[in-house]
Amino acid sequence: MARTPLMAGNWKMNLDHLEAAALVQKLDWTLKDLKHDFSRVEAAVIVPFTDIRSVQTLVEADEMKIKYGAQDVSVHDAGAYTGEISTAMLTALGCTYVVVGHSERREYHGETSQLVGQKAKKALDAGLLPIMCCGEALEIRKAGTHVQYVLGQVEEMLSGLTAEEVAKSVIAYEPIWAIGTGEVATPENAQEVCGAIRTKVAELFDRATADALRIQYGGSVKSANVKDIMAQPDVDGALVGGASLKADEFAKIVTYLG
Ligand code: PEP
Repeated sequence: MARTPLMAGNWKMNLDHLEAAALVQKLDWTLKDLKHDFSRVEAAVIVPFTDIRSVQTLVEADEMKIKYGAQDVSVHDAGAYTGEISTAMLTALGCTYVVVGHSERREYHGETSQLVGQKAKKALDAGLLPIMCCGEALEIRKAGTHVQYVLGQVEEMLSGLTAEEVAKSVIAYEPIWAIGTGEVATPENAQEVCGAIRTKVAELFDRATADALRIQYGGSVKSANVKDIMAQPDVDGALVGGASLKADEFAKIVTYLG
C-alpha cells in the first residue's frame, strides 16, 4: 500500500510569532519555486504554541499546502491545568498534527509511554493526527536491546487505540543519541527499528493497519542524508529538528524525490 511520506519540521522552542511567519512564508516560496508536489510528499511545521495563530493566518490567507501542528497537548479538556493547552484549542487553530512524547518531553517532564498513549488518544478523539515519538538512549543501543526497548514503548503507546486510529497515526522513531548531535543512525539502523515497529503493529492489530501507519525516522536528518534514509522500505518520512529552521535546507529535505 502506498503511504504518503511526511516531512515534519519540529522547531522546538525556537522562533517567535514574527519569525515563524517569515520562515513559513520563505518555505512556501521555496517549495513553489521547486514546483513541489504536496501529493507526493507532505510537509508540516510543528511550531511553538505561541506561533500557531500566525502560521494559521498565513497558511489560510495564501492557501498554502504546508500543514502545521503543535509540539504537545494536554490529556485534559479544560480547567485548572496551568500552562497546558487542550486539543480543542489546537483544532480551533486549524492544526493537523500534534507531536506527543518527544524524548525531550520524556526527559524534562517525566512523560511515560502510557501518558503519551493517552495524549495520542485525546488528539485522535479531537480529529488531530498524533506523531508519537519513541527511541532509545545510547546505553540501550550499546547494550543491543534497542529493538526490544522501542517495541515496548510502542506497545504501551498504542494500548488504548483502535486499529482505525493507529492506521491514521504517525510513529516517529528517534534514537535519542542521534537527536541534535549530528550523529545519524545509518539507513540500516533506521530500517531495523522502523521495520520491527511495523511488524509489531501487524501482530498487535493486523496487516492492513501496519501497512497504513506512517513511521518516520528522526535524528540529525538533513538534505545530505535524507535520500538514503527514505530509500528504506519502512521509513515514511522524517521528523526534523535543527535542519527545519532553515527554509532552504528543509525545502531540500521535503523535495528529496527531486
Ligand atoms: C527532533 O527534534 O525531533 C530531531 C530529530 O532533532 P534534530 O533533527 O536536530 O536531530
